[in-house]
Amino acid sequence: MKASELAQFKKNLLAIREKLVGNVTFMENEALRKSGHDSGDLSHVPIHMADVGTDNYDRDLTIGLIQNGEEELRAIDEALEKIANKTYGNCDECDKKILKARLQARPYVKCCIDCQRKEEEGTDES
Ligand SMILES: [Zn+2]
Repeated sequence: MKASELAQFKKNLLAIREKLVGNVTFMENEALRKSGHDSGDLSHVPIHMADVGTDNYDRDLTIGLIQNGEEELRAIDEALEKIANKTYGNCDECDKKILKARLQARPYVKCCIDCQRKEEEGTDES
């Protein structure tokens, strides 16, 4: 891969990373604010069970999003490391080149399409 292309991917990765870090921080604050609210403010006890359900659902959803964000962050950091090591663009599994279109869509993918398919199917036919 050309140095100019690598630089572009690095720029994209850093931009995604920045956005994710902002989102994760925001969502963590939201989750903390909500749980603090639930345990601390006893004057506000939900009357309807439906309300409680919604609150818990929101919090679970937020925590799920935080975990997804953290996984993505890890993948981005790994991709940045691979750029530094000049191994960026190679599949983690089979070491073949990952299609550029795939990298452009998700610059932090770790595997080529074949390996990802195999992983998703959960079968190892080799
Ligand atoms: Zn592969």
